[in-house]
Amino acid sequence: MITPVMPTYARADLAFVRGEGAWLFDENGERYLDFAAGIAVCALGHAHPHLVAALNEQASRLWHTSNLYRIPSQEKLARRLVANSFADTVFFTNSGVEAIECGLKTIRRHFADTEPRRYRVITLEGSFHGRSIATISAAGQEKLIKGFDPLLEGFDRVAPNDIAALEAAIGPETAAVLLEPIQGEGGIRVLSPDYMQAVRALCDKHGLLLMLDEIQTGIGRTGRMYAYQWAGIEPDIMAIAKGLGSGFPVGACLAREEAAKEMTPGSHGTTFGGNPLAMAVGNAVLDIIDDAAFLDKVSRTAGHLQQALSQLPERYPAVFEELRGTGLMLGLKCAMPNTDVLAKARAQGLLLAPGGDNVVRLLPPLIIGEEEIAAACKALETAAEELSS
Ligand SMILES: *Cc1c(COP(=O)(O)O)cnc(C)c1O
Repeated sequence: MITPVMPTYARADLAFVRGEGAWLFDENGERYLDFAAGIAVCALGHAHPHLVAALNEQASRLWHTSNLYRIPSQEKLARRLVANSFADTVFFTNSGVEAIECGLKTIRRHFADTEPRRYRVITLEGSFHGRSIATISAAGQEKLIKGFDPLLEGFDRVAPNDIAALEAAIGPETAAVLLEPIQGEGGIRVLSPDYMQAVRALCDKHGLLLMLDEIQTGIGRTGRMYAYQWAGIEPDIMAIAKGLGSGFPVGACLAREEAAKEMTPGSHGTTFGGNPLAMAVGNAVLDIIDDAAFLDKVSRTAGHLQQALSQLPERYPAVFEELRGTGLMLGLKCAMPNTDVLAKARAQGLLLAPGGDNVVRLLPPLIIGEEEIAAACKALETAAEELSS
């Protein structure tokens, strides 16, 4: 008999009742170190006092008015996102996939009047952009699309980090390129800065829009506000979500004025997107993360964690093959099924996230310190020792 909760997840038999910083507590009072952070969501950890205060304050005043009226906190968050990025304008959503949808619609609408034959989008193999029909069509991965035909037409996929393949895929109908600077669900596969720069140059040469999916990489995860900053390029459109609410559902589609100038009243909408609760939390998250000193600290912390983890593949070759990633978006490619590594780490009180390409992902809250790094490494070593023997 089907469960009341639609069984689309193979869940671990664990339920948490409380969180504090990087730690989660289950029903029996057992403590777990959360290096998955709700899949790269809880950037400031659990129950951060500044976020709790912002949400509580807003909750007792006003929850929802709709986008039929001005929402001052939405205007404020949009101004801040515009001020610290390439973008001139922002559409708020409740999730990552909705931010991608807004970007895909922005791409089509941009060309609709002037060059209507242009509608195709080039995407990368191994990518993940969400679970709607449009975004599974964009990613095209077998495990996402199985049984969901017919897919949305208009996506062309090429191998990542292969600029010749991308150039060869550009045709008269191509409108845009969509990519993740680091493929998250795909297994922490990093696009090289050279490749990112070459993609930008090709987009300029052929009059294409460059859209980035920074839903997982954005909001400080890599030690910069956005991962594109490492490559020294700027996109035309970008989707963000996960860390933006640090656990409160909120996403956003950012765009340059030129790319979004056809997104006029009536062209797109959302009932809940940009509501006062989400905006209160989003602003509170930026209070802390949109700060050079905070981001420097993330980079230093990431350096220490990477240093500590870098020895694992050499010491436990039967368990780990290599360490990948940037900042606090890390992956250990496993030499045995990653699900075995996840389960052993969990038994040691360490929560990790699975990833494609047989990777376990480490996506800790950005606020971790030396205590958490040491505890995570100890748990991983114990797990690896047990798995090696
Ligand atoms: C999580 C994620 C999405 C989907 O976000 P949802 O909020 O689950 O819709 C899309 N792209 C990337 C890169 C992601 O990591």
